[in-house]
Amino acid sequence: MTKSAVTGSALSQWVVTVPIEGTGITFPLRRVFCVGRNYEAHAREMGAAPDRESPFYFTKSAFHYAPSDSTVAYPAATKNYQYEMELVVAIGSPGHQLSRQQALDCAFGYACGLDMTRRDLQFEAREKKRPWDLGKDVEDSAIIAPIVPASRCGHLTRGRIELRVNGESKQSSNLDLLIHDVAAVIADLSHYYHLQPGDVIFTGTPEGVGPVVPGDLLEGTIEGLGSIALKIGPKAIFPEPSENQ
Ligand code: MN
Repeated sequence: MTKSAVTGSALSQWVVTVPIEGTGITFPLRRVFCVGRNYEAHAREMGAAPDRESPFYFTKSAFHYAPSDSTVAYPAATKNYQYEMELVVAIGSPGHQLSRQQALDCAFGYACGLDMTRRDLQFEAREKKRPWDLGKDVEDSAIIAPIVPASRCGHLTRGRIELRVNGESKQSSNLDLLIHDVAAVIADLSHYYHLQPGDVIFTGTPEGVGPVVPGDLLEGTIEGLGSIALKIGPKAIFPEPSENQ
């Protein structure tokens, strides 16, 4: 398929929006930042020592957002597609060089999120000291449930974070085990970027990550916030690489 000239309908798709729960209005998605290894037990299961000094980040394209309750294809080029249940914070006002005390003022709200990951490609990149993009910046891999304004749910510092796959518990932790909590993450990230309304931050996943297969139903909850669901659809259609390639 070839791309033709930009049309009005194509232009309208250039704005990606996330529902704001209970409002009928939407949050225009800008940048998707993700924190790596932000729970000690998850850092260890990834074979890494927890780093309490400073968080690190990777990003996903906003165009790789998919809403809760959607069905996404099992993506191409992986044999180990994995779930990561996370708290997502949505930025609602500009912030740069923020102190921890100032940081939460620009947190508009919170959402349940799933950071879907081609783990085999992430690990391959890690071993080769290459960027993680092929493992993390995957089409339909930034799942965000409707955003709950902080005016309704408060700023979240504790509460159960859980994920079930086909009804079976896979991840179960508590937000108070975040190595770098929401205020710390926002303050730190604001030293590298001018945070703007529409930016979101996936704050990291607890231990218990694992693979999915087509047909799986993921259901996540965060106490005091809400829930998220995702169905894994059939494998994306793509040619298997030949032995000669
Ligand atoms: Mn993650």
